[in-house]
Amino acid sequence: MTLAPAGPRPRPEILDISPYVGGESTLPGVNRTIKLSSNEGAFGAPPTAQAAYVAMASEVHRYPDGSAIGLRRAIGAKFHLDPDRIVCGAGSDDLLYQLCLAYGGPGTEIIMSEHGFSIYQIAGTYSGAKVRTTPERNLTADVDAILAAVSPATRIVFLANPNNPTGSTVPHAEVVRLRQKLPPHVLLVLDAAYAEYVDRPDYDAGVKLVDAGDNTVMTRTFSKIFGLGGMRIGWAYAPPAVIDVLNRVRGPFNVSIAAQAAGIAALAEPGWMEKSAAHNFEYRAILTGRLRDAGIKVWPSDGNFVLADYGTPEHADAANAFFHSRGIIVRAVRGYGLPHCLRITVGTAEEVGLIAEAMGAFMATQDWTTHV
Ligand SMILES: *Cc1c(COP(=O)(O)O)cnc(C)c1O
Repeated sequence: MTLAPAGPRPRPEILDISPYVGGESTLPGVNRTIKLSSNEGAFGAPPTAQAAYVAMASEVHRYPDGSAIGLRRAIGAKFHLDPDRIVCGAGSDDLLYQLCLAYGGPGTEIIMSEHGFSIYQIAGTYSGAKVRTTPERNLTADVDAILAAVSPATRIVFLANPNNPTGSTVPHAEVVRLRQKLPPHVLLVLDAAYAEYVDRPDYDAGVKLVDAGDNTVMTRTFSKIFGLGGMRIGWAYAPPAVIDVLNRVRGPFNVSIAAQAAGIAALAEPGWMEKSAAHNFEYRAILTGRLRDAGIKVWPSDGNFVLADYGTPEHADAANAFFHSRGIIVRAVRGYGLPHCLRITVGTAEEVGLIAEAMGAFMATQDWTTHV
């Protein structure tokens, strides 16, 4: 990156930011690609959401409702939450940025775990804050390591729970311990993008801690289980003072008229969440089992993806190249400090079969010693 000698200059830390790299979506020379690189939900968008989106075509000259009251009421009804404590965003990324800009900034520090979601690094640095990463244990955020990194400059702790790309979850009791030991002025942001998929008794997406105090926020998204990543809809559930801050700083029309309509309809699609979560539970286990049978280490996951661990970057790269040759796109996670791993979304039954079959064929061509 070269800047003209007398040209405009951003703040210096901006040039330390590496642009977010999303999952690939096309392969040159391949007609049918199977995209398992972005955790988009196995079934696409709910049919009622698609219809609601199309039906908005004649209205798109109108500005959206800036308060997204219809969408907030629908979210509140679905998840038993007070709509006044919800703010919607253009994806939850939008809200993560706003939180960093509002609570971070020059001279402050933001904490995330080593393999945490990369938007925290980008948005935190953008705000001017110093982003500190803390070591994990077994690819899981470590509460004690986070607490040890707290300094008087700390303003925000981000915890993706479950985390992307590792799939690991911190049990509710540990999150409570984190909150109790963090100084009260530190905002704890629980990013629960995969909450709807989690099926374990020791989990809480964040509602309890948000309700219990004035310093915890939960973020959620329509991009995963509701299959609306292309519409950009996320939301935060937060204490009144944080809601007030977000409403001051967010874009006034940050959720489009079509996105609001599609989101409301998606929530009304009968049985969608249940069907999607049940499919994910079943096929995540099938995918995990088949990859393990092929000789690959697979980390336990509570999300709609698994992290396959090939032991070495060379082995992961070779597997990735083999997938590409079969038109299958998965997510390389080198940028997350996991060059020996690939993240694979749990797709349809057919997609799970295809990737498991490809992995078996790949492993049969290798004389790698397995390390399961
Ligand atoms: C996918 C994802 C998000 C956000 O997605 P949006 O599409 O911006 O709502 C946030 N956090 C994690 C951990 C994710 O995996």
